[in-house]
Amino acid sequence: MNEKMKYVQKNAPCYLYEEKLIKERCRALLDAMPEADFLYSVKANPFAPVLKTVAAQGFGADAASANEVLLAQRAGIPDEKIYYSAPGKTSRDIQKAWGKCTIIADSLSELDRLERCAAAKNERIAVGVRVNPNFSMGGAAAVPGKFGIDEEQLITANLCFQHLKITGIHVHLCSQILDADMLCEYYRSCYLLAERMNKLNGVEIRFINFGSGIGTVYDSAAEKPLALEKLGQALRELRAKNKGGLQARFILETGRFVVCSAGTYYTRIVDRKISCGKTYLVVQNAMNGFFRPAVAELLRQNVGKFPSSGQEPLYTCGGQSEFRIPGRDGNYETVDIVGNLCTALDVMARDITLPHADIGDILAVSNAGSYGCTLTPLSFSGQEQPKEFLWTEGE
Ligand SMILES: *Cc1c(COP(=O)(O)O)cnc(C)c1O
Repeated sequence: MNEKMKYVQKNAPCYLYEEKLIKERCRALLDAMPEADFLYSVKANPFAPVLKTVAAQGFGADAASANEVLLAQRAGIPDEKIYYSAPGKTSRDIQKAWGKCTIIADSLSELDRLERCAAAKNERIAVGVRVNPNFSMGGAAAVPGKFGIDEEQLITANLCFQHLKITGIHVHLCSQILDADMLCEYYRSCYLLAERMNKLNGVEIRFINFGSGIGTVYDSAAEKPLALEKLGQALRELRAKNKGGLQARFILETGRFVVCSAGTYYTRIVDRKISCGKTYLVVQNAMNGFFRPAVAELLRQNVGKFPSSGQEPLYTCGGQSEFRIPGRDGNYETVDIVGNLCTALDVMARDITLPHADIGDILAVSNAGSYGCTLTPLSFSGQEQPKEFLWTEGE
């Protein structure tokens, strides 16, 4: 057994995030798209050692709450690289984040609130606005949504404030896109949007935050990795246009791309049983350890198959995680993996083929680095909660 598996044997149920893999994923983005500044979407995995690892690669932070702004600060990310974008910020949220980041206003009323705050403090601040643009991913027209301000409304709104200057836009329409051409087209549309916004009184575009969309492979049998070099090419072209035009900073956000595949959830098989001819492996902390597999099975149960469209960030696709029994090979059997909660919904996988496993063996579940631990109902039923670790080489 190698060092890592010894560690897992001792600590399961646990999440293990591999530093080396996180660094490689960051590097892949930085190398392919030197034109952009990257922000890490903290909500994908806010575990402090993970955040520090990503920050050390030069990433800023996309914070979805005031607390995430503070987490990013604590991870050593400088204020000017922290952007706070979320709908429904309370006055308390705004006070908490004030002076520690660039706030992205999500509505016209939030702009008014920010103006009043800045006036009360006698400060002049730069803010961004999240825009719900006149286009959608894939090219269709605008769709209603709870995020941002409709482009149409921005055009007619009064954006001249005494204490605020709108210096950037933020757009984010969807996650987990593996079609590079679609993303390139979207980036071009965002740039044109920034040009339109720059013409409005009160707006002077200095940054364009294109949001996320950068997808990662969950099911390597069915998906092809996103062609990052195509994104790089599109950004290079926009950069050239930008040079003689807006001269804005380009910002991209990503959460899952850098952490999803770097994380594995390990839990322990605590019982084996057969009911009416069906074999069950009972594990510790199934749906209350890593929620996504249970959500996939819940959807499958209701729809009759794994849905083909994602329900991000709770579900991506049928093959989103791989299940393994480390150290076991051969002697295959078909099993259901269920948890130790007193609910029948507590299922990790139905009818999957695995090598024969015994009580005490470890179950490894892949792609647990993003939307894993924090998106799981950990305190349900009062069970011991899985721990999280950053695994560094030579540990
Ligand atoms: C959650 C979120 C992201 C990160 O999405 P990933 O698919 O994990 O890369 C980026 N931007 C915004 C605005 C988000 O809400």
